[in-house]
Amino acid sequence: MIQDIKCIIGLEIHAQMNTKSKIFCSCPNSIKEAKPNTNVCEICLGYPGTKPALNKTVFENGIKIAKALKCQVPDNIFFSRKSYFYPDMTKNFQITQYEIPVGLNGYMKIEYKGVMKKIKIRRAHIEEDPGKLIHKGGDITNSEYTLVDYNRAGTPLIEIVTDPDFNSPHEVLIFLTKLRAILEHLNIYDTEMIMKADANISVKGGARVEVKNITGFHNIIKALEYEYSRQKIMAKQGIFIKQQETRAYNEKSKTTKTLRIKESEADYGYIFEPDLSWQVMNEKRLKNIFSTMNELPDDRVKRFVKEYTLTDELSNVLIYTDKALADFFEKCAKEIKDYNLIGNWMATHLMKCLNYNNVSITKSKINPEIFSDFLKMIKSGDLSERLAKELIKDLVSTGKSIKQLIKEKKVKIYKDNELEEIIIKLIKKNPQVITDYKSGNNKSINFLIGEVLKETKYAADVVKVRKIILKIIQ
Ligand SMILES: [Zn+2]
Repeated sequence: MIQDIKCIIGLEIHAQMNTKSKIFCSCPNSIKEAKPNTNVCEICLGYPGTKPALNKTVFENGIKIAKALKCQVPDNIFFSRKSYFYPDMTKNFQITQYEIPVGLNGYMKIEYKGVMKKIKIRRAHIEEDPGKLIHKGGDITNSEYTLVDYNRAGTPLIEIVTDPDFNSPHEVLIFLTKLRAILEHLNIYDTEMIMKADANISVKGGARVEVKNITGFHNIIKALEYEYSRQKIMAKQGIFIKQQETRAYNEKSKTTKTLRIKESEADYGYIFEPDLSWQVMNEKRLKNIFSTMNELPDDRVKRFVKEYTLTDELSNVLIYTDKALADFFEKCAKEIKDYNLIGNWMATHLMKCLNYNNVSITKSKINPEIFSDFLKMIKSGDLSERLAKELIKDLVSTGKSIKQLIKEKKVKIYKDNELEEIIIKLIKKNPQVITDYKSGNNKSINFLIGEVLKETKYAADVVKVRKIILKIIQ
């Protein structure tokens, strides 16, 4: 059976850090909105004779990530030069960590189909990003010529290497979702930053394929899904990959193609980086760094369950989808104490609107104040669920307050006394309902509620209407 062919995946993930300046110089670490080759200096361009100076925040971020991934932090950490001959790195070596990185032998627990699994983290290290190559008229394999932009040279990266512990692209998705949330909660990574991966993937009996340099969370999963199904189909026909191979992922066709057949592991000739000092990690220093660490997502889930009585599932959705959603929730929770109302409306209708508009909560026009006012109207029964589901779309896309929208759209909001009048009128028209109710048929009320809703064009809230009906007939 084709479904039974399991795959083995190991990952090397590079995530950019969102520090103010680059890793070894004071150039701004901003990739977007700068003209090519303007955020550069002698250091990040690798002029002979210049020396790097380690950005303290980058280093401490690395230690925090190591801690969050349950890694051991070595006592003496140092940097190395990796020989590297490629136009995106002018000094012909990359400053990275090899022998003793910021973190070793950690793990992350992931849960899939109710089964808990430990993904081992081999190492976590920090390094500099190279410049960006822009292939004109094609991709790396067929472009006419290539331009180089060094603005990105020196952007701090964290590289995380896992053991080949994944058995499906879906497990990778869960892992990356958790990893992203950890980095976001540590304030190291945000939506402007880029995550890349090199992924090793094989099926039983076949040599491994390395898919290199896949950019972006979504593409990493897509590339693995493609490669897994390609190898599965081949295996089903008895064809196995014999020689280790490096492939590139094409975002447009959502496929991979061969870059080269690997004959041996590349020898990068690492040497100790003499321009950067050893980092001695004594207990006091570690304690200081750890004391500035933010709450991690797993702890936050536990707190949400305890403090706000949300379900585990709802807490996970809010915290792991986008940290900003969880922050948004907590701001609303200050305004309105019905936490489940906030959580449920966020996880269903609000997220649906955001997805539909393909916008993040941060970039959307809605804010916690607008959303809380809206929920208050639902809670009081002034806004029916049906009407609320309609109006939330405009709240997200316009950023107007609910009161303003009601006014502009001329939405009729029924006051209690208006509803009473309608109900009395309908009871007079349908006296049988009351007789039925009084003789024990509780359901007869539903008919009356239905009539009220029709009369108010579904602007009246069901719970409120039921309450008023009961008040009148008792
Ligand atoms: Zn620079």
